[in-house]
Amino acid sequence: MRTTNEFRSLVLLSLLSMMAATALLGQATKIVAPKNKYKLADDVQLGREAAAEVSKQMPLLPKDGDVDSYVERVGQHLAQSIPPEFTHPEFHYEFSVVNVSDINAFALPDKPMFVNRGMIKTAHNEGEMTKVMAHEISHVALRHGTANATKSQSAGVQIGAIGGAILGSVIGGAAGSAVIQGTQFGLGAFLLKYSREYETQADVLGSQIMARAGYDPRSLASMFKTIEAQGSGGGPQWLSSHPNPGNRYERISEEAAKITISSNKRAGQDTEFPAIQAILKGMSPAPTTADLEKRSRSSGEGTRYPDNTSVGGPVAPPSTNYRTFQQKGLLSLSVPDNWKQFDSKSSVTFVPDGAYGNHGGQSVFTHGAIVGVAETNSTDLMGASGQYIAVVLQGNSYLQVEGKYQKIQIGGRDGLTRRLSGNSPITNQKEIVDITTAFSNRGRLIYVVQVVPASEQDKYKAAFSQMLKNVNFLD
Ligand SMILES: [Zn+2]
Repeated sequence: MRTTNEFRSLVLLSLLSMMAATALLGQATKIVAPKNKYKLADDVQLGREAAAEVSKQMPLLPKDGDVDSYVERVGQHLAQSIPPEFTHPEFHYEFSVVNVSDINAFALPDKPMFVNRGMIKTAHNEGEMTKVMAHEISHVALRHGTANATKSQSAGVQIGAIGGAILGSVIGGAAGSAVIQGTQFGLGAFLLKYSREYETQADVLGSQIMARAGYDPRSLASMFKTIEAQGSGGGPQWLSSHPNPGNRYERISEEAAKITISSNKRAGQDTEFPAIQAILKGMSPAPTTADLEKRSRSSGEGTRYPDNTSVGGPVAPPSTNYRTFQQKGLLSLSVPDNWKQFDSKSSVTFVPDGAYGNHGGQSVFTHGAIVGVAETNSTDLMGASGQYIAVVLQGNSYLQVEGKYQKIQIGGRDGLTRRLSGNSPITNQKEIVDITTAFSNRGRLIYVVQVVPASEQDKYKAAFSQMLKNVNFLD
């Protein structure tokens, strides 16, 4: 399984935007933002955390350099063209250029929208460049990230739990779970896939924003076609988070026919773009995101397994000799001494040889366990566990909840265990995933995720119960 979370864009808009919004025609499709139980401040907090993580991992072009300033000017013009009903004074739009060659862009609430250098290079003019930006801004303005969370989490779960879950998945990456997959180099966790419904909303609102900003929304469709045609050049990365809802081009053309393009152009809108492309051409070539990921992995910073490992080999049964794993300030427990250990920021994965590796670009494992911690504001163990499980299910769509929560004692504390199962895409066999949770003294959610193919359950029973029996909390 894999852990991820659908979290993403929300925009911020300054007061300026309200003044700038100019005449648009009444017939534009009326969009209703999806149901959302989060506060705007929650979007802002999540966005800031995510952006900090991204900025640490991705090379950005210099702030206030020619290219960055240009993209900032264009971005502000778009942000000021958001229809008034979707402007939120809490959101402050800001734009940064990532120095990678893939075509991509992504937005987070409150902090920068990241625009890849490759996206600027691929566009034929400023209008095309703004297409993807307007689409991303729309996800932010419509608060699709927290709307997704609203949809997928049960009532009563608090925002801190979501934050923890997000964190959990970043780390989770390799560590995630059985078929857990690696993230797209840290970004993945925030770049989850939107539903078709949200994609259509972002296309329609994106068209409206473009028209208000003086761009022809029909080129929204042409930019998407360009991205699709790029194939392995990075297009799919963007498209995998923003799937074509099926009638993307028709819907955009339909909307374009309903709205009038405003004359509210940005100064320099028709003239500046070629000079910026020339500057980019003169710079040394940008690496791809995959290059960066590889470098990070070889320096041991990444959350993925080594490149040369492949999952699916013979897997030795758990040793009956145990070693003690200790996480300072958190807990200690026993693990079979033939399981390898992979650490990441907030979780540790224990896996036997042959049971972990990279599969279809994702880090996965089929046998073993993850121990990790997530921040949560919830004081209700079942609520916090449900939240974590929701994230696991979201990232591993083949799994389903099987049965009810079981109460257990773990390290002298009350804990809960719940079983998930499903047909693993790696082994093509039924996989059992048992998730045990308890609170730390400081109120953090500690989770132990144990994964095994159903056909080998008996062989792992003793090792799994030994792990839980020997937990000592150190916090
Ligand atoms: Zn989208």
